[in-house]
Amino acid sequence: MTDVNIKDSPIPSSPVIPKLYPGDSRIQFRCHKEIACFNACCSNIDITLTPYDIIRLKNRLNIDSGTFLKEYTVPFEFEKDSIAGVKFKPIEDGTACRFMTTEGCSVYEDRPTACRYYPVGLVSMRKQDEYTDSNSFAIVKEEHCLGHLEPRELTIDAYREEQGVALYDEMARGWRQLILKKKSSGATIGKPTITSRRLFFMVCYDIDRFRLFVASDGFQQSFAVTEERMLKALSDDTELMLFGFDLMKQVLFGEETIGLKEGVMDQRLSKERQKQAADQRHSSDSQSSDQEAVDL
Ligand code: SF4
Ligand code: SF4
Repeated sequence: MTDVNIKDSPIPSSPVIPKLYPGDSRIQFRCHKEIACFNACCSNIDITLTPYDIIRLKNRLNIDSGTFLKEYTVPFEFEKDSIAGVKFKPIEDGTACRFMTTEGCSVYEDRPTACRYYPVGLVSMRKQDEYTDSNSFAIVKEEHCLGHLEPRELTIDAYREEQGVALYDEMARGWRQLILKKKSSGATIGKPTITSRRLFFMVCYDIDRFRLFVASDGFQQSFAVTEERMLKALSDDTELMLFGFDLMKQVLFGEETIGLKEGVMDQRLSKERQKQAADQRHSSDSQSSDQEAVDL
């Protein structure tokens, strides 16, 4: 089972018929337990996880996000030196999903977005520097998948409804938009700093660590968030995730999505000026010592 790749899609890789379809297009497909290829797709995985996928799975497994990331995922970069994503880590020395059993998926009710969509792929596209995106769909046809030969026709929209992807799409929209905007902004905005890349990773994938960060004195003293929003965010993983997407719009693109407390901006500017002055001093000190070395 693989993700879809089409130019401008936020999700990398795979064998896709390079054609986009609207949601009312009809497909021929059915997957069921009695089919000869049962579990074939889960035996060779390449699945990118959305932030909401991780929340659902780590809560299902009753573990924290840090443990989930360590045990079940591997990171990758969407582009070199840019923001990262995470994929499922297959079984040791193999390619199968860790949640595959002879009976099928052991986390079926909380299976990730890519598993729900297969063999359809969501392709979000956006214009440069905009957040509004438009969705089309791609069809993945892999030889081992016999579901395409089953005598059932339905629209892509009906298939999405059957697979319960609407909520998953809604919850991943902010994350997809951040990735698309970062990808399409390219050189105009530049590479994200290491700090902002780390923050993106924590916000999007390590939600339990992000909660500690938001609850910390440093964060509380810097950001002006209403008590109601803060309580919601601290007590609900998905609210915290959505709050995090807003924070990342500010960090990556300088948008004022979450206000700063009075005086914080002045403090930051003064700190930045001090840093620049120190850098300049350091640079002229090393220039003069280079000069001394030459004179000697
Ligand atoms: S999570 Fe479930 S459906 Fe998805 S690859 Fe693993 S076993 Fe298959
Ligand atoms: S029909 Fe396709 S999706 Fe269903 S089990 Fe077979 S390979 Fe997987």
